[in-house]
Amino acid sequence: MIQDFTEEQKSISEIAYEFAVKKIKPIRHACDEKEEYPLEILNEMKKMDLFGLCLPEVYGGIGGGITSLALAIEQMSRICAGISLPVATSALGTIPILLYATDEQRAKWLPDIASGKKLVAFALTEPEAGSDAASITTTAIKDGDNYIVNGSKHFCSSGKISDLYVIFVSTNPAKGARGISVLLVGKDTPGFTMGKKEKKLGIKANPTYELNFENCKVPVSNRLGPEGFGLFILQETFDYSRPGVAAQAVGIAQGALDETIPYLKGRQQFGQSIASFQGIGHKLAELATKIEAARALVYTVSKAMDKVLLEAIDHAIKNKTPLKQELKKLSKRRWTKESAMAKLFASDTAFEVAQECINLCGGIGYMRDFPVEKFMRDAKVTQIYEGSNYIQKNEIAASLIKEYTK
Ligand SMILES: Cc1cc2nc3c(=O)[nH]c(=O)nc-3n(C[C@H](O)[C@H](O)[C@H](O)COP(=O)(O)OP(=O)(O)OC[C@H]3O[C@@H](n4cnc5c(N)ncnc54)[C@H](O)[C@@H]3O)c2cc1C
Repeated sequence: MIQDFTEEQKSISEIAYEFAVKKIKPIRHACDEKEEYPLEILNEMKKMDLFGLCLPEVYGGIGGGITSLALAIEQMSRICAGISLPVATSALGTIPILLYATDEQRAKWLPDIASGKKLVAFALTEPEAGSDAASITTTAIKDGDNYIVNGSKHFCSSGKISDLYVIFVSTNPAKGARGISVLLVGKDTPGFTMGKKEKKLGIKANPTYELNFENCKVPVSNRLGPEGFGLFILQETFDYSRPGVAAQAVGIAQGALDETIPYLKGRQQFGQSIASFQGIGHKLAELATKIEAARALVYTVSKAMDKVLLEAIDHAIKNKTPLKQELKKLSKRRWTKESAMAKLFASDTAFEVAQECINLCGGIGYMRDFPVEKFMRDAKVTQIYEGSNYIQKNEIAASLIKEYTK
């Protein structure tokens, strides 16, 4: 890797990869086939502080920012994106808390999240509201000091194994997009139940679930940010979380290549190793170049974000203010465009690399006993979740047009 990382970042990257090779690789095939999540691995991941990577040290985190998180996600996804997904999904749920929680809310939730005691899931998508997040119909109507939540979410990653759910709800349906708010709901809250488990193409070990809310009472003190701010919180969360999906995609692409090159070296046809054919070598060169370009984009964006983010976190802790307030003081810069570019390019690269790796391996590449087809199935979702790649293109285009109308 060409990027310049600190010693701590290098060590996070190495530890995450070694763990994935030693503990996840031997079971990834069985977990994928059985569509089962290995809870013993989750417990080990918790002990390794993987859920506190981007959280401040004062709450028991590592204080590593988006870059350290992306490095761990990349290295674990090289082995299995489905089993390692809770690191990314918990971060996706934690970022809105980090950005918008008050000092009291941070003290209440972040220590348990950092230690892995409470895994966070992110629930925005509904059966009738995907790309068009503003059209959600799950309602949260105020009743004294509580909201009464009714509705359903679907496609919630790590749904079954999480403890805290960041849910997007309409607190004022008459206001449409400006009536959306964000609430935190604990797993055992009466009225909150798991619905059906989704059957998926890839990341099959990860338990993706439907969530149902029926007269579910959630304290008003569990709301993040002001009422009606939900869509702002959503967009800013994605600005900081999409490099994580992009890192996952880079890891998947690298993992596919890691399995393919040794096979090509060992496979003999026409009296020589397949890897020695120039046409094959050129294809490998193209794929490796795209992976490196995607990686460069991911870490350039992550490191640039961290420069402001880490300083703002220090200020927020010192001043006991919400992080968003401190970020605004330091810089008006948003990362929507760059973050979307990283996800778009890395996820398209992952899918292209993984499916070309199947071509390169031939028939064995198509077989489920050989790991390459799994990388292709796992790559697909990186082009869909946290906004499909068409939506990423819409956001990049909107940013460009805005830049040129200044
Ligand atoms: C495995 C998996 C895990 C997921 N995990 C989570 C999770 O943890 N939490 C969560 O909240 N959600 C999750 N999602 C949901 C995911 O974010 C949505 O599926 C995604 O945003 C697309 O929404 P949709 O499926 O409703 O597609 P739709 O919005 O119905 O879109 C269908 C197609 O139309 C395109 N389209 C829609 N609008 C436009 C437009 N304006 N311009 C151009 N093209 C457009 C889309 O790009 C897509 O190709 C997950 C999804 C999957 C598959």
